[in-house]
Amino acid sequence: TEQPPFTGRTTKEWQAADAAHFLHPFTDHQALATKGVRVITRGEGVYVWDSDGQRILDAMSGLWCVNVGYGQEALIEAATQQMRTLPYYNAFFQTTTPAATALAERLAARTPAQFRHVFFCGSGSEANDTVIRLVRRYWDVMGQAQRKVIVSRLNAYHGSTMAAASLGGMAAMHAQGDLPIPGIVHIDQPHYWAHREGAAKDLGREEFGLLAAHWLEEKILAIGADKVAAFIGEPVQGAGGVIVPPSTYWPEIQRICDRHGILLVSDEVVCGFGRTGRWWGCEAFGSKPDLITFAKGVTSGYVPLGGVMVGERMARVLIEQGGEFEHGYTYSGHPVACAVGLANLDVIERQDLVTRVREDTGPYLAQQLAQLMEHPMVGEVQSCGLMAAVQLCRNVPLREAFAPEIAIGMVCRKHCFDNGLVMRAVGDRMIVAPPLVITRAQIDEMFGLVRQALDRTHAEAHAAGWLAR
Ligand code: PLP
Repeated sequence: TEQPPFTGRTTKEWQAADAAHFLHPFTDHQALATKGVRVITRGEGVYVWDSDGQRILDAMSGLWCVNVGYGQEALIEAATQQMRTLPYYNAFFQTTTPAATALAERLAARTPAQFRHVFFCGSGSEANDTVIRLVRRYWDVMGQAQRKVIVSRLNAYHGSTMAAASLGGMAAMHAQGDLPIPGIVHIDQPHYWAHREGAAKDLGREEFGLLAAHWLEEKILAIGADKVAAFIGEPVQGAGGVIVPPSTYWPEIQRICDRHGILLVSDEVVCGFGRTGRWWGCEAFGSKPDLITFAKGVTSGYVPLGGVMVGERMARVLIEQGGEFEHGYTYSGHPVACAVGLANLDVIERQDLVTRVREDTGPYLAQQLAQLMEHPMVGEVQSCGLMAAVQLCRNVPLREAFAPEIAIGMVCRKHCFDNGLVMRAVGDRMIVAPPLVITRAQIDEMFGLVRQALDRTHAEAHAAGWLAR
């Protein structure tokens, strides 16, 4: 039988087996078949290696999750010890494990003061599904069962289950699944750059933040405030392209939710655990949510774990008046995942990674990336902590986009990959979100690779006649 580190096959053999059997998430398999899948075999710190031995700087932390970097012994040790002691037990029917209870206690101490309780699940999608169940149950118990509608935003990503994809605002996902399911509506995103020729014309960034928040109030009034249950948003939209909102946005969203008695949900699957330079994105942007969903960074992706922090306003009602909550997963509070979560929090705290992102590496990354504003193809650079976006465009002064069929982001992404860098393309926006353990020297290395990829993309665009004349 095959065992890690799986060295017994060549890249071509893996590619053939993969093409024959593996249906990948978010992948066009025809396109994949023509070039063959890339096989990632190991990782160390901020680097991964492929099956041809090429070292790649993982500027996306896997999928925004490997926050403490690859190869952290403390997490490996915690998983091994917990598997040996008790690999699994459930949290249904009045049982728990020390790992699950200890992580619940630890998270309560690490979240803003309104949170004392957590519901565990296996992923970010499950966490956001759980939000819908919790919100509906809460309003039921409160005697306001007519409050059903959840407002979200276009281009939001909240996961891939039917419910989480409905909460999300990804048009391509909705188109394939007859989504959204009933009871979920969307408002536009607070993306200043994208609205510069429209709603944001003649507005400063901060004024635009207020306008974008008021789209929520317009929606609430159109539906009827007594029918609206909650608003959900990522503090910084991640998969939507690292859309950093104006500083006026979240405080105004909070005021609107308070004014209409609506629950506020902060999806911190990407922003949580230090990505923004604060433990939580809501702390960075000044909102006081009733629910926080998390996943990814809680275990740095070493094993799957997600959850919902439930604020006391809701928790007290559900605990004291709600009776049994008819909801739960086999892996709610999985002891191995929770043990890894505890070890992960130890690493973040011991290395003071959150402060480091806020005061050192985050500002340093922003300072480096700002130089790209001189690049002939870069229209905007935005960053928050250790997440950043570089907007590519065909004509910078006119903010003119490349023709969609060129898929300039994918062209750039290929130049990155060939050159030993993982960067994500969201349309024409290039994204980085490196592990929080990245050093200044590694940021320099990453920045050099980003610049080379942009130069190569520009040269290709020039040769192909894609640029404005
Ligand atoms: N919410 C946000 C903000 C995400 O970015 C993601 C995944 O990228 C999810 C939810 C879904 O998490 P998962 O893929 O663990 O289901």
